[in-house]
Amino acid sequence: MDTMDRLKKDLVETGKFGRTPPRRIERYDQLDPEKGVTRPAGTEENRKVRDYAVERMREAGLTVKIDKVGNIFGRKEGSKTNTGTVMSGSHLDSVINGGMFDGALGVFGAIEAIRRMNDEGFENERPLEVAVFTAEEGSAFSPTILASSVLVGKMGVDEAWNRKNAMGQTLGEVLENIGYKGSFERSLDDVEYFVEMHVEQGPILDKEGLSVGIVENISGMMWIMLTILGSENHAGTTPMRIRKDALVAAADIVSFVNKRANDLVEKLSAAIVGTVGRLNVFPNVGNIVPGKVEMVIDIRDVVQENMASLKNETLKAAKDIENKYGVDIRTQLTSLHLPVTLSNEVINMIDSSARQVGIVPKRMNSGAGHDCLNMVKRTKAGMIFVPSVNGISHAPLEWTNWEDIEKGAKVLTQTLKNLSRL
Ligand SMILES: [Zn+2]
Repeated sequence: MDTMDRLKKDLVETGKFGRTPPRRIERYDQLDPEKGVTRPAGTEENRKVRDYAVERMREAGLTVKIDKVGNIFGRKEGSKTNTGTVMSGSHLDSVINGGMFDGALGVFGAIEAIRRMNDEGFENERPLEVAVFTAEEGSAFSPTILASSVLVGKMGVDEAWNRKNAMGQTLGEVLENIGYKGSFERSLDDVEYFVEMHVEQGPILDKEGLSVGIVENISGMMWIMLTILGSENHAGTTPMRIRKDALVAAADIVSFVNKRANDLVEKLSAAIVGTVGRLNVFPNVGNIVPGKVEMVIDIRDVVQENMASLKNETLKAAKDIENKYGVDIRTQLTSLHLPVTLSNEVINMIDSSARQVGIVPKRMNSGAGHDCLNMVKRTKAGMIFVPSVNGISHAPLEWTNWEDIEKGAKVLTQTLKNLSRL
């Protein structure tokens, strides 16, 4: 079997896990727009894909260890001692009804890189390690990038174990159930480099007809929760001019966020986005003037100051809207992840490795968060992107063409080889 067929086989075989009915999908036209892949952390389907990956790691000669929060590490020692490890990997859990490449590509791509080095008899000087991170998606346990947060010391093991899914099971319980509650304590002190290959999950590479991207920055994300208090009243008997309609005020805020984000794209940053994706309307009844609305504003950019300026302008607009409609608006910052810049050394290494194998990569940013967001806190970390057809991900129609996957795998392999001899 040639090398591409090997990686393709891993993705096609594991693409069956969490798909109902389980089907091998090798071409875009075989995708069912309604039936994607569902394998949240700790489920039986998640166990199957983990078992499959562990088997492939052992076949490739890696020594496999599982840590307390179910992260999997497959290690190949290097010819030199006292050198920092080069780690590569991603996650194997999925969103509900997602795609077969998100996460899995980074895991099986890293395993394939090791197999290619084995085939060539390549001698790595630094140790190489493939990593699988538990519960990246937040589809079963919140917050997202959960177990890599434990790995980098942002969250305690007990706190992670006690997180509950929608069925009320804890992460500790489900890991125990699927046989992935290990005892290994992986300190990152010896890990020098981390590289994650991932599907872009956006339209840029696909639109420009390019195969490989190098991520320079990962967007930060901010959630502002707004509660608008008006006065609930009869829709038939309450005259227009005395109403305090919370939903009308909310509508102005939704429009403001959208319009202002559009303006800032021109003025400040092409990467800035502002979204209102959720409204809770009370009492949400057709013949009652809405008395209360809860909404979440999601703001992202690669520059923290830009995020702050969209936030501040929105809060100022909310003040004006408050006066205009006689409502009371309360705001609360509920989530804040700062943008991160990935390692220049790794970015440059991915760039030169790509050119070494005849591929010209595009420097770009990531709008989505990844385990790399955590790893960059403790290691020199970088990311390789391959295109998402039509920019779709976290959906059944997520797809990446096999030729692009092969190019990504070539770049990843060359990068890991070069880093392992630095
Ligand atoms: Zn992912």
